[in-house]
Amino acid sequence: MATCPNCRAQNPDAATFCATCGARMGALANTAPAASAPPTMTAAPAYSSAPSMGMPAATVGDSKRNGQATAGLVLGIISLVMFWFWPICMPVGIVGIVMAALGMKSQKKGMAIGGLVTSIIGLFSMIVFIAIVGAALISTYGIGY
Ligand SMILES: [Zn+2]
Repeated sequence: MATCPNCRAQNPDAATFCATCGARMGALANTAPAASAPPTMTAAPAYSSAPSMGMPAATVGDSKRNGQATAGLVLGIISLVMFWFWPICMPVGIVGIVMAALGMKSQKKGMAIGGLVTSIIGLFSMIVFIAIVGAALISTYGIGY
């Protein structure tokens, strides 16, 4: 009887391949896969380490900018919702634009763009609202300048 080098199963001496696991019987079995292994072994870590090396470094370095992008979006939405109340809309919208602009270089570029757009729309809505309300007040009460 011959012992399989892979799974230690007992096989007939004439067997070329193990009946249990299919491994090639004999000493050559281990050298053949081992010879072809190094290229794939070295290629695999290099391939997988490149993104994993970049990801943590990018997230650590961009965590502040990601926060700015998120803050820009939140402030933009607030300015959009509060367009009818300029004491809140104006400062929030302006800070939202600044935060979104700073967060534009982060990984959350989509959020930064959203923050920029909502902040600008919020401020624009505020200006339009003031103009409409002002015009309405003037026409209603006849207040002229
Ligand atoms: Zn085997």
